[in-house]
Amino acid sequence: MVESRYLFTMDIIHLLPDSVANQIAAGEVIQRPASCLKELVENSLDAKAKRIQVIVRDAGRTLLQVIDDGIGMSEMDARLAFERHATSKISEAQDLFSLRTMGFRGEALASICAVAQVEMTTRRAQDETGTLIEIHGSNIVRQEVCSCPVGTNIKVSNLFFNVPVRRKFLKTDQTELRNLLTEFYHIVLVYPKVTFTFVHNDEILLELPAGTEKQRIEAVFGNTKSNVYTSAFVEVATETDLVTIRGFVIKPENATRKVEQFFFVNGRYMRHPYFQKAVLTAYSGMLPNDYQPSFFIYFDIAPESIDVNIHPTKTEIKFADEQTIFQILMAAVREALGKFTLAPTIDFDTSGSLDIPLPQDKPIIRPDIQTDPTYNPFHKRGVIYPDKVVKNWESLYQNLPDTQNNPVISNNLSIPGVLEGTDTESCPLWQYGGKYILVPSENGLVFVNQHRAHVTILFAQFMEQLAHTQGAIQQLLFPEILSLSQDDMILLAQLTDDLRAIGFDIEQLSPDSWSIQGVPAQIVDQSSIPVLQHILAQVRERGANTRREWQEQIALALAESAAIPYGKNLTDAEMRDLISRLKTLSGYQHTPEGKTIISLLSDDEISKRFH
Ligand code: ADP
Ligand code: MG
Repeated sequence: MVESRYLFTMDIIHLLPDSVANQIAAGEVIQRPASCLKELVENSLDAKAKRIQVIVRDAGRTLLQVIDDGIGMSEMDARLAFERHATSKISEAQDLFSLRTMGFRGEALASICAVAQVEMTTRRAQDETGTLIEIHGSNIVRQEVCSCPVGTNIKVSNLFFNVPVRRKFLKTDQTELRNLLTEFYHIVLVYPKVTFTFVHNDEILLELPAGTEKQRIEAVFGNTKSNVYTSAFVEVATETDLVTIRGFVIKPENATRKVEQFFFVNGRYMRHPYFQKAVLTAYSGMLPNDYQPSFFIYFDIAPESIDVNIHPTKTEIKFADEQTIFQILMAAVREALGKFTLAPTIDFDTSGSLDIPLPQDKPIIRPDIQTDPTYNPFHKRGVIYPDKVVKNWESLYQNLPDTQNNPVISNNLSIPGVLEGTDTESCPLWQYGGKYILVPSENGLVFVNQHRAHVTILFAQFMEQLAHTQGAIQQLLFPEILSLSQDDMILLAQLTDDLRAIGFDIEQLSPDSWSIQGVPAQIVDQSSIPVLQHILAQVRERGANTRREWQEQIALALAESAAIPYGKNLTDAEMRDLISRLKTLSGYQHTPEGKTIISLLSDDEISKRFH
């Protein structure tokens, strides 16, 4: 009785105190020391710093300090900077479209000071004295006038001191330090004119003087004084109305198993599996099996044609015209490689002569390709693949499609709209080998990988559901019990909200078990335990640092579990449904991981077989 009276007399909605709201926001923005470092260094860059020092202790757990010589802050701003949505960078929503700074949401400092002990000194050039401010878990504990150099010096101690779950979720120091360095590379590689140092536990790990992009790459991955690292690369440069692409790609003969692959767009690092595929395609046939090329590629593009208003921790960027950029990028890389190597393009002309791009910038002896129709560049060891790189060079040859005897299905990553011209409602469809759906099209016969197509369709569907929290739940008759290791318990706790959003009805039962009462409707005919285990394994293995990346991994793992397997016979209606749903997706030629879904056996290739 007492309780119900209480309910009727009290209003129950109240605003969260700022400190709590900030802690919640911090969960989004500051997941680990690396995200904190990124925010601090980006602030220094936004403040036009020319020299930035990073000092770290215990992989950022105990100390993360960033010292810059930027514009500094006034006394008032120093205090305001830690308020939520306090920013000097935009004042109206419209400003979002003309963003030139790295930060803009005014959330980072508020988030950081909610989960750490922060001490900052800062001074502007026009002020005689600076400001010292100390904040512990959002509470200002000290603010005073101080003397300090122009710029800002911000010290973040004991990150997550008040959020034990976060602390537990951090990996070993080694892993966290690697995360810090990776984040640092992403930034320093686009700001070669700024001097950086990175000190960890009193040891200078990186000293990067101001210079060109190439010098910066050398300083990070090679040695400041030599050019050993960068001389293994060739330059890529192309300029079109749509996009400017420049950078460096490794010469095929210098490829090793250790790869550095970096894309940047308008001064920001990005991940882009589809464009990565474009680079790999440009190298096809030039690298030994399971080798990958290293590259540093910088895109400049009108801000309107990319998705700018993105989450600050998101590294995947959507472009308006990805297929065209794919083509431009692939051509640019091919051209760069063609200029500097003798690698053949993969097409062999039927007359037996080779289509070899002429070396232009380097005096390379050109083989006599006109008079020797049996010439095979791979027999010339040391020219293309020095022995030190490739031991069993013959195996390279197996990678090359031999179009003379055996027309292969061309890897038509790039045929735009390969299915658009086809009326998939009425055209005949066949299933082949329990694996492919064959679709006759204007240009030839299209092979669609049934499992990958379905994974991609489901992935899009799950991402949509995650965005709107509307997964269709199918309640189980008998709850299943999932027992987990400590690691997985922590991980599952992190993912709970998203798993619920996507359609899992799960509840923690005991310190090491969960009960599963409902599952996403799409997987109702499977046992839920292996599906959840697959999701956990994938998130752990593929790694995800941001909420968005978790969601992608969950959606992908679930899509993999739910998609029609190879070997399943499909009815005509099922095939038609699959193809028409696939066609509605924008990047339908590849899975979210960049695997090929569609391949075209062209009319030409077919008629060649009947010569
Ligand atoms: P945002 O970068 O999105 O504006 P932050 O919370 O990261 O939000 O920073 C809030 C504000 O504090 C910035 O807009 C800027 O005015 C100021 N600020 C933060 N770091 C620095 C710095 N290193 N130098 C000068 N001003 C800074
Ligand atoms: Mg910022």
